[in-house]
Amino acid sequence: MSLYLVGLGPGGGADMTRRARETLERCTILAGYTTYIELIRADYPQKELLVTPMRREEERCRRALEAAQTADVAMVCSGDPGVYGMAGLCLELAPEYPPVEIEVVPGVTAATGGAAVLGAPLTHDFAVISLSDLMTPMELILRRVEAAAAVDFVLCLYNPASRARTDHLRRACDEILRHRGPETHCGWVRNAGRAGQEHRLLTLAQLREERVDMLTTVFVGSSQTRVVNGRLVTPRGYLQR
Ligand code: SAH
Repeated sequence: MSLYLVGLGPGGGADMTRRARETLERCTILAGYTTYIELIRADYPQKELLVTPMRREEERCRRALEAAQTADVAMVCSGDPGVYGMAGLCLELAPEYPPVEIEVVPGVTAATGGAAVLGAPLTHDFAVISLSDLMTPMELILRRVEAAAAVDFVLCLYNPASRARTDHLRRACDEILRHRGPETHCGWVRNAGRAGQEHRLLTLAQLREERVDMLTTVFVGSSQTRVVNGRLVTPRGYLQR
């Protein structure tokens, strides 16, 4: 039997791929974190559900792998399961659960789903960094942010805040401000592709003071990023040739 790690896209709705939808239809058990199961449960009322709360990632993966020994199981993740998702952990644990096969079904990640809302901020090189220090020391996160800013990457920041730590984004902005001006164009998108989607364009100086939450992805422009007709754009350079 197989465990499918299925990316739902940012909202689980129109942005879900056909392959993701077909995989959910084929599986008999749907597993995942409560919020993501809620995004899809109404569409699949007949499926068995394996719902686990946040944080207990290892338990969630082990339960899905155990279930996949006798049934086809889809473990759902928002966005792409391989981008700060459960794909890595499931593949690490899989050797303990023979003969389960694992298939990763990719999805639209928050970086590209959010970028589309703002315009085209990722048309040139960009770095994706999570500001969550649950698994990575904050010092290393801030060094990566500074290094990316130093070589003029656009930055796309996942997990910009949590309930417990509200100063991560401000500290990241301080690292970026070592290399980039306070007028640098930035933006954030909250609940991309979901009900209540919101976004804002702002400067780096304003971003430093902004309160965002864990449902938000933050974009910091490079020195080339501009606002054109209210949309955030990082030119690829076609008009400058
Ligand atoms: N696997 C997911 C990322 C999980 S990490 C993906 O590929 O998108 C969780 C972080 O993703 C959140 O803190 C937020 O920064 C971002 N995120 C996920 N869904 C989002 C959405 N619908 N809108 C904005 N940001 C989102």
